[in-house]
Amino acid sequence: MSNKRTVIVIGGGLGGLAASMRLAHGGREVVVLEKNSRVGGKCDQVSWEGFRFDLGPSVLTLPMVLDRLFADVGLRREDYLDIERVEPGCRYFFPEGSRFDSPGGVEAFCEAVENFAPGEGKAAERFLAYGRRLWEVSEPFFLSNPLDWQALRRFRPRHVSGMLALMRPGSMHRVVRAHFRDPRLIQLFDRFATYNGSEPYRTPSAFNVIPYVEIAFGSWRCRGGMYALAEALSRAARDLGVRIETEIPVRRVRFSSNEDRVDGVEVEDGSVREAESVVVNADAMSALTGELLAGHPRAQAWRTARQTEEPSSSGYVLCLALNRRYSELAPHNIVFCRDYRREFDELFRRKKPLTEPTVYVSAPAKCEAAMAPAGKEGWFVLVNAPSGGGAENVWNGYDEQIIGLLRDGPLRLEPSNVLWRWTRAPHDFRQTFNAWKGALYGASSNRLSAAFRRVPNAGCVRGLHFAGGSAHPGGGIPLVLLSGTIAANQILAGCGIK
Ligand SMILES: Cc1cc2nc3c(=O)[nH]c(=O)nc-3n(C[C@H](O)[C@H](O)[C@H](O)COP(=O)(O)OP(=O)(O)OC[C@H]3O[C@@H](n4cnc5c(N)ncnc54)[C@H](O)[C@@H]3O)c2cc1C
Repeated sequence: MSNKRTVIVIGGGLGGLAASMRLAHGGREVVVLEKNSRVGGKCDQVSWEGFRFDLGPSVLTLPMVLDRLFADVGLRREDYLDIERVEPGCRYFFPEGSRFDSPGGVEAFCEAVENFAPGEGKAAERFLAYGRRLWEVSEPFFLSNPLDWQALRRFRPRHVSGMLALMRPGSMHRVVRAHFRDPRLIQLFDRFATYNGSEPYRTPSAFNVIPYVEIAFGSWRCRGGMYALAEALSRAARDLGVRIETEIPVRRVRFSSNEDRVDGVEVEDGSVREAESVVVNADAMSALTGELLAGHPRAQAWRTARQTEEPSSSGYVLCLALNRRYSELAPHNIVFCRDYRREFDELFRRKKPLTEPTVYVSAPAKCEAAMAPAGKEGWFVLVNAPSGGGAENVWNGYDEQIIGLLRDGPLRLEPSNVLWRWTRAPHDFRQTFNAWKGALYGASSNRLSAAFRRVPNAGCVRGLHFAGGSAHPGGGIPLVLLSGTIAANQILAGCGIK
């Protein structure tokens, strides 16, 4: 017989921890089972000789989502975590040699654009006003709530212009190109499609809300590095009474004998844990296509419906411990490639390590000296990489290629300054976190129906819920926190499949 008040959360990623906090506050007995030795999932960290490297997210957007998560469970975020705004939000290096510092705040951003590319400031104003209209409808209708017909009841006349913006035909790129003439600004705004692992030439234009969010609400970081966020959530969860067990891989979700509801999970050692509800924070696409939900007929139907999904992109991570500081770097930097079309062609169609990728470099010691030993600097380097089950050996030597690009590019990295290096390739994401095909954000948003096709938070069987980057509303820190909250609220309200 199942314990009627127990909820098991499979996976201690940020979405799972958020769900566990909300559920414990709502009076449930909550157990988080995490297969790895620490929680946080893709929000991960590695240290070496006084250097601290975040291995996953480095930019926190929409900090109010985080504050609301804490406030909703009666806690103060400030008691668990310090966050600070990062300026400039990003430093962009363009192939022809120019560079642009992107400030936070719409007005400051548009002014900076006008100085950088005279005549384009007004275009930036129009583009961000369109982004604001997108935000005003996507937040209440798509992000903070489950995607269902109930959403229509929230519709008010003031939402009309946002809905029209949302329905604007074409891709992100097409709408960007309709606003800007300067190819550098087109490349800059196209880049935001990669925030959910997609390509700008196919992702629906509504995703142009992403640059608006980052510019209007700013780019933030956590003191101590982004891993401090995972630590803060797990500490808050424990304070609320959640039991977190690590090194407990769950083999499968168990169902009642007539298969109409969940009744617990079976862990790898064969033991059974009973529960009234299960929240799958493990990658939803992996759960549907793998052993976790194998055998249940309704999961089979969901799996079939998603057979044609294209995975989002993966990433290749390279951490470099350097024996000096580089003054030309900001905390976040993008060194753009010369041919963005080729980058996405190699990423999504040719599925090969990118020949000359756009390179992202984060240097957290620029904001917080304690992230590296005195006079030294740690770089977290990230490039887009194809997801899928390709051969692992294609990544052999890729770190040398990236170091070569950094040496020859505007950052002028001297390879002899590298004291230590560490890499994580797409197959590592698959093996370490059970990420579906190594993709960082579940299915890509490369088609018009993408937002409607994500795995919903209420699962196909009573008591089964999904929270995390490949479930609704999507990947990225604020969205997975919202995903956890939505799934938990559904359980507390007794919604889902009856
Ligand atoms: C390199 C990189 C850079 C990123 N940059 C940013 C950024 O700058 N800003 C931003 O907002 N987002 C960024 N993201 C995205 C963000 O990190 C993720 O969307 C988010 O952390 C995912 O959270 P999640 O809740 O989906 O859980 P995940 O991180 O996917 O964690 C799921 C957990 O479930 C566990 N698990 C899986 N299967 C089982 C099982 N069978 N039993 C038990 N446990 C299991 C896994 O071990 C893992 O701990 C980045 C991601 C990566 C990888």
